[in-house]
Amino acid sequence: MMKINPDKALKITDRIWWVGHYLEGDQFQCHCYLIENGDESILFDPGSRLTFPQTFRKIEEIIPFSKIKYFVVHHQDPDITGALDIIDSLVIREDARIISHWRAIALLKHLDLKLPISCVEEMNWTLQAEGRKLQFIFTPYLHFPGAFCTYDPATGVLFSSDILGGFTEGFSLFAEDENYFESVKMFHEHYMPSREILAFAMNKFQQLPLKYILPQHGSIIREKLIPFFLQQLKDLDCGLYMLTQTSTEIQKLSLLNKFMNDFMQTLIFHKHFDTTAKQLLEHIRSIIPACCLKFLVKKDETGWRLLEEKNRYRGVEYKPDKTLQSMFSCDKSLLELNEKKGGNSIILPLKQMETGTVFALAMIGMRETITMDSETESILMTIANPLCIALERELIQQQIDNEKQAFYEMSIKDTLTGLYNRTYMNETLPRLFSHHDRGVIRGIGLLMLDLDHFKAVNDTFGHNVGDIVLKKVAITIHETLRDGDIAVRVGGEEFAVIFIMDEKDGSDFCTERIRKAVEEIDFSEHMGKKNQTISGGLALRKKNESVDELFSRADNCLYSAKREGRNRITQCPS
Ligand code: GH3
Ligand code: MG
Ligand code: MG
Repeated sequence: MMKINPDKALKITDRIWWVGHYLEGDQFQCHCYLIENGDESILFDPGSRLTFPQTFRKIEEIIPFSKIKYFVVHHQDPDITGALDIIDSLVIREDARIISHWRAIALLKHLDLKLPISCVEEMNWTLQAEGRKLQFIFTPYLHFPGAFCTYDPATGVLFSSDILGGFTEGFSLFAEDENYFESVKMFHEHYMPSREILAFAMNKFQQLPLKYILPQHGSIIREKLIPFFLQQLKDLDCGLYMLTQTSTEIQKLSLLNKFMNDFMQTLIFHKHFDTTAKQLLEHIRSIIPACCLKFLVKKDETGWRLLEEKNRYRGVEYKPDKTLQSMFSCDKSLLELNEKKGGNSIILPLKQMETGTVFALAMIGMRETITMDSETESILMTIANPLCIALERELIQQQIDNEKQAFYEMSIKDTLTGLYNRTYMNETLPRLFSHHDRGVIRGIGLLMLDLDHFKAVNDTFGHNVGDIVLKKVAITIHETLRDGDIAVRVGGEEFAVIFIMDEKDGSDFCTERIRKAVEEIDFSEHMGKKNQTISGGLALRKKNESVDELFSRADNCLYSAKREGRNRITQCPS
């Protein structure tokens, strides 16, 4: 251990001095620091009336006291500010000033000092003093409301005030090793408001290339130990978290805090509602023995949807019983439902933000019946709002998905016949062809169909009858096909059928069946003639054949069929 003579000022690094005083039996130890900076020297946290005479003597060993222009007061404790009125009577220079933050200044004015006080907020959190630029770092609540630390970029020194201070029995100006953390811990854990607020300051410190931390109490920390101490403090359970060990009220509060944090994180980060819902259930389990989470959504007076894990929260039509239905008009914010099959459910009615009407019930299924205490009740009621937002967002998303799907269906179907249209065919064929080329599909057949003498139907019986004929023929073609084969209205009175061949298929598919089925439709109730025939050309795709080549071969066959007398299907030679 390095022997230090506390009766002497001690140089810590270039032009930075410890000018504090060791008070016997005082756990606090007021450390006062001086930056020797020519005519604009700076004194930090000048100390109490008990220590100042020694501090003054030590300063004068280094520089005349009158060289000090700035007195930085990091907060308003008596062990920092007690000596200010002595300083006030000693300072003769006009430009000297105290520097603090507004919250401390509001109190310091009661000392009725002559020295003017500058406010760090108004100084833009910096002090420009003869060749040196200091940065003030805001560390709210860690000493008192407001409060700050000072960083000197030139030397990497942080004047940390109370932060990293420690209660020390003996005097040890420098922390020798990690053991010093025990006294830092004692100093901080009850005194700092919360882990989050302390970590906020530690994050700022961790950004700085620190060489020394000079606290106002305890021991100075050198570069090598700094990362350890900052990390330890960052993880320290303190303030509110300490109190939770003795107070159940605060335990609940802290639980709620954590719960809401996790809950919101889940809502923000999970894109798919089924993962969101599962995660939310996990969080809910941390407070009550829940086993499932469902949502019953009311679409209108007679329509309900149930979103549950079973249907991956996509929702299915559901008819709730009278009790559940009545919960939509009940104005309680939390309900319980005893189910016959054992176990009960806790129901949270979810209200629409704008109208205030209940649009859904969040139903938390319970593994066992519990008697609810008021804290649990209030936590559950608190989650109703975020649940509401999550669900509303999901319902909007589902509606958009459904509309998208409906638009897509519309864009790929022919409105008159309900068969797929050319757009769909153009989208699908390349995909099928690549399957065929890779051998995933054994074969593809393209059948082009065209109604025989259809112009005459229109001309003789009118366009409406023509449409009826088209529709019936289309339906018949569709119904004659096996699952997986695709019927398309290519345009006008022309159709195409795409056959997908599997292992068992022969090469004639069901072309003859189609022709026959169309011929057998009885149109006598619509027109004078009873039958409508159809001609077709079938081409089997060769590997690597293009869409155009295949169509052109099938078309040629169709023309042959027409030439050969119609009402027949011709197959291309392969
Ligand atoms: P072919 O046996 O040689 O095919 O003789 P066709 O009369 O069927 O041949 P063409 O292609 O000359 O006539 C097709 C007719 O189909 C012309 C048009 O009036 C009719 N048509 C095309 N689209 C529609 C439609 O959507 N509704 C109705 N009613 N008729 C249509
Ligand atoms: Mg035609
Ligand atoms: Mg025709």
